[in-house]
Formats: sequence, structure tokens, C-alpha cells
Amino acid sequence: MEPLSVSRVQTYLTCPLKHRFQYIDKIPPPWRPAALVFGSSVHAAVEWFHRERLAGRTPEPEAVAKIFDADWFAQNLEPVVFAEKDSKEILAEKGHELVSLYVAESSGTMPLLTEDRFEIDLVDPETGEVFDIRLRGVIDLVEADGTLVELKTAARTFDTGSLERHLQLSTYALVRFLATGTVPPLRIDALLKTKVPRLVHLPATRTIEDLAWTARLIEGVALAIRAGCCFPNPSYRCTECEYFAHCQQWRG
Ligand code: SF4
Repeated sequence: MEPLSVSRVQTYLTCPLKHRFQYIDKIPPPWRPAALVFGSSVHAAVEWFHRERLAGRTPEPEAVAKIFDADWFAQNLEPVVFAEKDSKEILAEKGHELVSLYVAESSGTMPLLTEDRFEIDLVDPETGEVFDIRLRGVIDLVEADGTLVELKTAARTFDTGSLERHLQLSTYALVRFLATGTVPPLRIDALLKTKVPRLVHLPATRTIEDLAWTARLIEGVALAIRAGCCFPNPSYRCTECEYFAHCQQWRG
């Protein structure tokens, strides 16, 4: 089996049938939800901002907003479905606001790394058991003190339970622990698409027990994929599922 990405694990947990359409059948999505595309464009602009700074340059907010514009334009060349109160223009304006806010509030701290890629053998940190699973992913930002940061664009902030169970944070902490023997500080930086945009910093912690639980969860997902367990998991998310039409045709 090819290395398992964190996003693939997340997709399987959301809906095993969607995972099959996307990762096994490799069906191109007929459209994409605007919220996903929007988050990707904001992410592209923020990544460029940090890369410029790491190269010794200090881009103005307008320059970062132009990167957002270019990515947003390119992504909208493919079919995008907008929520009732959103449009391409409304989200373009919101993107400018969020990116400018991020640049204004983040210029004081310099990251150590941006888009830090990893690929490791999955190991249970409590027992030392090595699984026959390669795990890969990308950490958005690593700060000078070792804090691992995940950037999110969201409609509202994260509650405590969501932070404690956030799979990407748990996996990044596991990967760092396996490499260094230390559980790193973690944080989600959430750009909120509220009426008045906000950037909130949400620190999180993990214990070694949490990391062992995460390793076993990923092992369970990998075993289920190998066994071909791909069934639908209907939920409120179906309304924004790109594979809804394919799902209606599904008969096992
Ligand atoms: S429509 Fe719902 S149940 Fe069907 S594949 Fe998509 S998320 Fe899964």
C-alpha cells in the first residue's frame, strides 16, 4: 500500500465510501465546495508570505492579497459550488480581508519552517510496535520554539473537544515525538470568516497516551482500507459531498 496521508485517513473517517471514490476509484470530483477552494487559496497566499519572509523579504499585504487573487481565479476555472449566501465576489473580498489580517498580525514572529513534509513508519509510542504502514503529511508551520502550527480557515472557532481530538494536530505531535522523543507544543491558527474577520490562536497539548491512541486509530484505518471496507456514512456533510451523485448509484 502506498504511504497513507493524514488527509486520506481523515477522509476515510468522514466517509469510507467517499474515500473509495476519491482514493481508490480516483474519480475526478465533478465540482468542489467553495469553502474548500477558499481555504486552499488563503493557504496558498499565507504559504507564499512565509516563504518570502524566510527568503529575507517582507511582502506588503497587497502583494500577499494578489497571490490569493491569482489562486482564487485559477481555482474558479473549475466548477465550484457556493453556499446560499456566498459568491465568488463575496469570498474574494473576504479572502483579501483575512489575508491582510494574517499579514498584519503575523509579521512579528518568524517561522523556522513552512510546509514541513514528513514520511515515517508508523510506530506505537507506548509499546514500540512498528506497523507495516508508511505515514506522510505536511506541517503548515514550525516555529522557532518547536511549536507545530496548523492554519485553518473556518466559519467559527474550535471548541475544546474539537481541539483535543484534532487528528492533524495529534498526528503531527506523534510524528515529532517519534523523531525527537519529545511531545511538541501545538497550535491551530484559525482565520475566521466572521462578519469582522478574526485570527485566533488555539494552543493544544497531547500526552503520550493520546499519541498511542492516534497511532492505533491510523492502524485501524489502514487495516480497514486494506480489507476493502468502503461503506457510506451519511451525515450533514452529504450536502457538500462532491460524490453525492455517485453515492446514489452505489449498491455495494
Ligand atoms: S454523499 Fe454522504 S454517504 Fe455518500 S459518499 Fe458522500 S459523504 Fe459518503
